[in-house]
Amino acid sequence: MTIRLRNTLTRQLEELRPLVPGKVTMYHCGPTVYSSPHIGNFRSFLFADVLRRFVEDQGYEVTQVMNITDVGHLTMDDIEGGEDKMEAASKRTGKTAWDIAQQYTDEFRDCQKQLRVRLPHHMPRATDFIQQMGAIIADLLAKGVAYQVNGNVYFSVEKFPDYGKLSGKVLDELEAGARVAVNDEKRDPRDFALWKLDDKHQMQWDAPFPGGARGFPGWHIECSAMSMHYLGEQIDIHTGGEDNVFPHHECEIAQTEAHTHKRFVSIWMHARHLLVDNTKMSKSLGNFFTVSDILQKGYSGLELRYALIRVQYRQTLNFTLQGLDEARAAIGRVNEARKKLVRVRDGAERAGSDDLAVAVQTAQDAFTAAMSDDLNVSEALAAVFEFVAACNKAQPTQESAKAALLAFARFEDVLGCFGDEPVADATGSAPAELLELLEQRKAAKAAKNWAEADALRDRIAQAGWKIVDTPQGARLEQV
Ligand SMILES: [Zn+2]
Repeated sequence: MTIRLRNTLTRQLEELRPLVPGKVTMYHCGPTVYSSPHIGNFRSFLFADVLRRFVEDQGYEVTQVMNITDVGHLTMDDIEGGEDKMEAASKRTGKTAWDIAQQYTDEFRDCQKQLRVRLPHHMPRATDFIQQMGAIIADLLAKGVAYQVNGNVYFSVEKFPDYGKLSGKVLDELEAGARVAVNDEKRDPRDFALWKLDDKHQMQWDAPFPGGARGFPGWHIECSAMSMHYLGEQIDIHTGGEDNVFPHHECEIAQTEAHTHKRFVSIWMHARHLLVDNTKMSKSLGNFFTVSDILQKGYSGLELRYALIRVQYRQTLNFTLQGLDEARAAIGRVNEARKKLVRVRDGAERAGSDDLAVAVQTAQDAFTAAMSDDLNVSEALAAVFEFVAACNKAQPTQESAKAALLAFARFEDVLGCFGDEPVADATGSAPAELLELLEQRKAAKAAKNWAEADALRDRIAQAGWKIVDTPQGARLEQV
C-alpha cells in the first residue's frame, strides 16, 4: 500500500517514493545529552521508531541514523545565544562536559531500552565527526558561501536564496528575529555559525579546515555531516520535533544544499510537542517528567510508550497520569484477548466453530490504511480494539485463533506497545473434560454451592490434577 506522509517542506501529504526503490534512508535529530531525557523528547523519538517499524512492515529495507548531540548546542539556540548546554551543565555539576555527555548518553540508551525502541542502525556522536564537518566548512568557504571573522565561521544566508523555505519564515521576520542577538561580526543578522573560536571551551579542536582557529562546531553542521557520512548526499526522510524546524533544519538545508547542489531531504517530518495536564511542560509548573520519573511512579516502559504514541504525531497529545492508567488498561484488554487465543491455539481451552478470517482481514486492512495515512496511530489502535472485541465475542476454531494471534503479532511489531505474546495460563495440557469440571466448579462457587464445588474438586483430584487458585483465577496442575 502507498505510504503517504506529511512533508513540512511542501505542507502536503506526499507519497513515500524512495530514491533507491525498496530502500528507505532516515535521519532523526537525536538528544542533546546534557540532562535526563524527558517524555516530550521521547514523543518525538518514539514517532521516529514507529515510522521506521511501519516502513519496514511495508517491505522496505530501512537504514536509520539518530545522532547524539554532545557539543555545540547553545542554551538559546534560536538566536545563537547563551552558552553550550554541555558546558552549562558542567558548571552546574562540577563534572566535565565529557563526563556529562557520557552520563546522559548512557541514560538515553537505557530509556530507549525501557521504551522498547528498535535501535537505529547508527547512533553517532557529534564529537566523533569533527573532520567530516570540517570538510563541508572548507568547501563552503572555498565557494564563498561561508566567511570567517575573528576565527568564527558563518554561513552567508544571502548566498542561499531558498533560506526560509522549510519554516516559511519571510525575510522581515527572519531579520527581526536575528536582530535580537547583537553580533556585529555577522554580515547579515540571519547568518549562522558553522565554527566558533573558543579556547576556553572544554570540548575544543584544531580547526578541521584550512586557516581556521581552535574552537568547536556549530550545532547545525553536525547533523549535515553525520547524515551525509552514513546516508549519502540525499536522503528520503528527516525527522525532528517541531522546535527543530527553525533554525536547526532550515540551516541544515542551507549548508547541505549549498555544498552538494542537490536536494538534501525528500520528506521532512516534525512531531508536535506534548502538553502535560493541558499546559506546556515546565519545571517551574511542576509538570515536568523525565522518563525515569514516570518509571519510578510504578508505570512500565511499555505503558509509557503506549501513552506517548497513542495520538498521531502531528496532533496535540495531552499527557496525564490518568492517560497512563488508561494505557495500562488498554494493554491489559489486548493481552486478555491474546491469552484466550493462545489457550485455544495450544489446545488448553476448547476450540469453538467461529471462523475469524473476515475479522482478521478487516483489522489488518484498517490498520494498514490508518498507518499509511501519515502514521495515524489513533486510527490504527481503533482497528486493533475493534478486533479485540471481535475476538472476545467469538469461540474461535484453533486455526482462527492462530491467524488472530498472527495479526496481533503484526500490530505489536509495528507499534511495539502491547508487549510480547502472553503465555497462556498454566492450565497446561489438562484434558478438556477436566477444564469443563473446573468451569463448573467456578459456577458452583459463584452460586455459593459449596458441596457441589467440593464434589467437583474431588473428581478433578481423582483424575490426578489439583486446583491452584491465583489472582487471575483457578488453574489446573498435574499432581
Ligand atoms: Zn539535527
